[in-house]
Amino acid sequence: MVSAPPQTTEVLVVGGGITGAATAYRLAQAGVETVLIDRFDLGTQASGANAGSMHGQIQFSPFRDNGEVWARRWAPSLELLDASVEIWKGLNDELGVDVELRLGGGLLVASDERQLRMIERKVALENAHGVASQLLSRDDLRRVAPYVADEMVGGELCPIEGKANPLLATPAFAAAALRAGARIERHCEVQAIERTRDGFELSTTRGRFRAPRLVLCAGADTAPLGRMLGVELPIEGHPMQVNVTEVVTPLVPHLVYFAGDRLTLKQAGIGSLLIGGGWPATVHPRTGRPAVDLDGVRRNLAVARRVVPAVGRARLLRTWVGVNNGVPDEMPIIAALDDVAPGLVVGTFPYLGFSAGPVMGEILAALARGVEVPFDLAPFHPSRFG
Ligand SMILES: Cc1cc2nc3c(=O)[nH]c(=O)nc-3n(C[C@H](O)[C@H](O)[C@H](O)COP(=O)(O)OP(=O)(O)OC[C@H]3O[C@@H](n4cnc5c(N)ncnc54)[C@H](O)[C@@H]3O)c2cc1C
Repeated sequence: MVSAPPQTTEVLVVGGGITGAATAYRLAQAGVETVLIDRFDLGTQASGANAGSMHGQIQFSPFRDNGEVWARRWAPSLELLDASVEIWKGLNDELGVDVELRLGGGLLVASDERQLRMIERKVALENAHGVASQLLSRDDLRRVAPYVADEMVGGELCPIEGKANPLLATPAFAAAALRAGARIERHCEVQAIERTRDGFELSTTRGRFRAPRLVLCAGADTAPLGRMLGVELPIEGHPMQVNVTEVVTPLVPHLVYFAGDRLTLKQAGIGSLLIGGGWPATVHPRTGRPAVDLDGVRRNLAVARRVVPAVGRARLLRTWVGVNNGVPDEMPIIAALDDVAPGLVVGTFPYLGFSAGPVMGEILAALARGVEVPFDLAPFHPSRFG
């Protein structure tokens, strides 16, 4: 039997999460013939399973655990998150969908003076990188967030933070990509990638695809794709879980974090509370798939109640799991790897990749088109891993 000839296009984008959907949209918008490929449906992995927090500050736990030297190295990522929030602000109009962006501010609270002094140093670093976060005294905190437990001694308010709806954002980018002329191949798993004389050939469960340029942005599963081309990318999967409660009256206008333990807490537009903060899920012993860790659920809810006691009134409805895209130093990996394979672009923004999705789309599309990017991408090159 003669196999069908490969389908050809200008750019192939592998990974239909928020990163790939936004990249395909920007490419198609620029008039570039683009095919977006995903092995499942779009936005069904981390981009659909995340907690919808809009992040714009240095996360407290890596700051505490890795120290200020790490934070100074990581800080260029702030510029990307800030730029992403600016894009998020225009998405309702641009994509024609209300992605439920609400920027009520991010509130990191401390339960002791030691945490507060660390937050003070973190705020100084953020301010030096243009983020208008501010330190809150105990009185400031009472004024800004009277719903927070009395034991909290102060904190930080970061004005560019909040939330958006993950179930809406990726489909909105994908629909816009289609309207702009991109093609989307769902249920199309990339099984092998070969370099051709003038680009790449992908063997997939739906036939072969060829293009001179290839963007690999498959989240936690980008590493195996890179390996198909002999490129080692230290991107790993971390199963994590998020909880949602029943609908309750308005309670939490901020995205709340706690310096004393893992927590993100916010209230969705319809009133349910989303409670997470990077709590690990477990792996099912038989299926090998991520599964809910019940002890983690209990501890996560206890932390939420400690910080915002009124949370205790809400009943838990559901806990779900997803696999987060991790990088050992928590920094994005973004590069055009022309020296390794001309035409190859790779990109992942670890842990905060929902927030960063819109800016990642702009950057990866620009790299694939060979046009200038308004950011210094040197800190994000994978060559930092040697
Ligand atoms: C539980 C949880 C909570 C989170 N909370 C937040 C949050 O509140 N705020 C925030 O900013 N970030 C959060 N994140 C992180 C964020 O969700 C991710 O960083 C982001 O969604 C990554 O997007 P992506 O498009 O790069 O990857 P993904 O969404 O994982 O998409 C990658 C796609 O590639 C496809 N793919 C993989 N391999 C292949 C292949 N061989 N062939 C074809 N397709 C392939 C997959 O099917 C998938 O659809 C959270 C993550 C998790 C898991």
